Amino acid sequence: MRNIIVEQPISSVNTMYRDILVIGAGALGLSSALHLKRLNPEKSVLVVDRLGGPGQGNTAKCAGIYLNLATTELNFSLCDSTIDWFHHLQDDLGHRLNLTQYGYLYLLDGDRHRKLKQPIETARSIGVDIKTYDREELESMLPDLATKFGEEETELMGLKPIEAGVLATRCGNIDADALTRSLESEFLKLGGELSYNTTAETLTIKPQKEIGIDGEPFVWQDIRIAGAETSRGEIRAETTVVAAGTWSERLLDPIGFDPLMRPKSRSIFVFNDPRLRRLRDAKGFSESGLLPFTSIPEIRVYLKVEPSEGSIWLGCADDFGRRYGLEDDPQPERGLYENDIYHALVKYLPCFQDLRPLNSWTGQRAINRVDKTPVVAPAPGMIYVGSATGYGVTKSDALGRTVAAAYAGEEEAELYGGRRIRVADLGIENRKKVKETFKV
Ligand SMILES: Cc1cc2nc3c(=O)[nH]c(=O)nc-3n(C[C@H](O)[C@H](O)[C@H](O)COP(=O)(O)OP(=O)(O)OC[C@H]3O[C@@H](n4cnc5c(N)ncnc54)[C@H](O)[C@@H]3O)c2cc1C
Repeated sequence: MRNIIVEQPISSVNTMYRDILVIGAGALGLSSALHLKRLNPEKSVLVVDRLGGPGQGNTAKCAGIYLNLATTELNFSLCDSTIDWFHHLQDDLGHRLNLTQYGYLYLLDGDRHRKLKQPIETARSIGVDIKTYDREELESMLPDLATKFGEEETELMGLKPIEAGVLATRCGNIDADALTRSLESEFLKLGGELSYNTTAETLTIKPQKEIGIDGEPFVWQDIRIAGAETSRGEIRAETTVVAAGTWSERLLDPIGFDPLMRPKSRSIFVFNDPRLRRLRDAKGFSESGLLPFTSIPEIRVYLKVEPSEGSIWLGCADDFGRRYGLEDDPQPERGLYENDIYHALVKYLPCFQDLRPLNSWTGQRAINRVDKTPVVAPAPGMIYVGSATGYGVTKSDALGRTVAAAYAGEEEAELYGGRRIRVADLGIENRKKVKETFKV
């Protein structure tokens, strides 16, 4: 049974006071709350979420992939240390995260492969373990992959046949729901508090130094965030962590804080058909005996084996052409699979011929268009964490630790395993210029 801690209803009559208020119980909010409480045991830390349990926002809708394929030290450290932490949670602390390491396979046409040769060497030089496969090897390991195209595919559809495979080995599946439950449980063990079904409606702005005159704060006063008005009343806090994912803009736009983030939808389609078994059970890539997480960038499609049910999830990684905009309940675009993705997919993977998805859903990614790298940005009385551009789960622990370092006013955050990053590198003003080739 879940141990929910705020027993007395928060009422508007009795303002509640906490040292730290975290808004959002997704992967990033819970990770931040855990590390804030771990490093500041004497402080009261309360997490609120408008939904009824942990990780029910976009964390619940994600593909559940962890990966460390990066060409920059910063992104590599964020991902790789978080993967180490996942193993600690599972192997040492006993949380069942269903970690299955099967690698991340890029299936590339000749041009793309040539362009990626240098970035692949850069990634290797910072520690990413990468294997490459030529066409003949792929043909024997993936008999379902069509590598020779006729006139219709090349001339009419403009598709290019696969020439090479690039496999980043330290990548795999994680049960994102189990992850947030494990973070919630570790947070509660430390004495953290949670209040679900509690919506933060607005952030509270107060003058840094109150003088007790009606109308404060005035424009000439320095201000700070002092908590939030919630659906259950006011919660005052010394520090408010805004970890509300794509919904953060609803809290931050009114206070004029730009989190470098815009929401964009992405859908996942689920297949479970005997005709896909040979593809799913592709041998030779990893000890798991499963198809790696596989991306075909030429048609903006990726495939993920879900080990718990043996199904294959298909995602569409389109970007330019898909609109930005926050949605509370996004739905898969009508006909996106049947009338669109399908026609190109079956050219590369004819085993999908006539198959229809059993299920589908759509979530929203918090896109940082500037450099695809997350943001941890302090402002007076507040820390924002987010803008993870579709990789928040795989960087969640490192981001939570960076929030805790920002709270402590430290210049560097120590990540799990001892690597260090500069907190300001993820900030807004003095952000590190990152040019990431891969989409981590
Ligand atoms: C289709 C899809 C596939 C993805 N696949 C992957 C993947 O394979 N690997 C990966 O690493 N990442 C993936 N991502 C990205 C990943 O889901 C996010 O980066 C991550 O979940 C972000 O976590 P979060 O805590 O910031 O956001 P969320 O999980 O959305 O949490 C925000 C929380 O804030 C709450 N909230 C919002 N507003 C308020 C408010 N006003 N008051 C109170 N509570 C509020 C919400 O209810 C929610 O629970 C994917 C995303 C999508 C959409």
